[in-house]
Amino acid sequence: MTGTLYVCATPIGNLSDVSDRLRQTLEAVDLVAAEDTRHTGKLLQHLGITKPCISYFTHNRRGHGEMIVRELLSGKNVALVSDAGTPAISDPGEELVQLCAAAGVPTVPIPGPCAAISALSVSGLITGRFVFEGFLSTQKKGRMDRLEALKTEERTIIFYEAPHKLVRTLEDFAVAFGPARKITLCREMTKIFEEIIRTTVGEALERFTAQPPKGEFVLVVEGAPEIRESWEDLSIEAHVNMYEQTGLPRMDAIKRVAADRGVPKREIYDAVMR
Ligand code: SAM
Repeated sequence: MTGTLYVCATPIGNLSDVSDRLRQTLEAVDLVAAEDTRHTGKLLQHLGITKPCISYFTHNRRGHGEMIVRELLSGKNVALVSDAGTPAISDPGEELVQLCAAAGVPTVPIPGPCAAISALSVSGLITGRFVFEGFLSTQKKGRMDRLEALKTEERTIIFYEAPHKLVRTLEDFAVAFGPARKITLCREMTKIFEEIIRTTVGEALERFTAQPPKGEFVLVVEGAPEIRESWEDLSIEAHVNMYEQTGLPRMDAIKRVAADRGVPKREIYDAVMR
């Protein structure tokens, strides 16, 4: 009989977040597929569990993925774990689950900590609708293209970021979303120096430029204000302001208003500069 792949969430800092079900699953499986076998070895040691581990990370995911599926097809049960949090969420696992789905191998989630959802839950921002963006590209163009596409995103947006790239990312947010956009920075969640900072992009940039960031961060950014379907009842100033609030620079907002109203942009420019 085919085995099962258990996709196991592990603590993002606080080992007390290990659930009974995680412990039981790790005890019961034949094999643990781990992002870093040494790191997971420490978790298993903490739980008093001895298990064979196989590494499964970004650079060996092809070869080792197929090997793990063969083990599953031969009847072995496997637990997939990453270094922290939920596998497959900005972590290895997505492709392994796809391979299992294609091979008819059952996959079972063992839910638990996830940095993105933990941050969203305490962000104080709208949680009913959100998008998860994970890590932005390390390439300037890729990053700015993505942020450009998110300028008018009305849902709350969640990003992961490394501390040494935080200031650069906040600078890019200030360009794309404007410095007044609300942001909640969730630092070192579940750990000793946990901090939830509810502020604006501009203030966060000022703070972390003065005092270099340390630890792990999730950034939860307020969505863009809703674009009203009708602008007919707005003054020209309010109409321009509506676009500026989405992060558009003033001249671009003026162009959009001129296009909406079917008038030359000079007319709008003169009205707002008057
Ligand atoms: N799959 C993991 C999850 O579901 O939580 C995320 C893995 S991703 C490689 C690592 C990123 O998650 C970090 O760079 C940081 O943005 C975020 N992160 C992980 N643990 C965190 C913590 N304790 N506090 C704040 N952010 C954390």
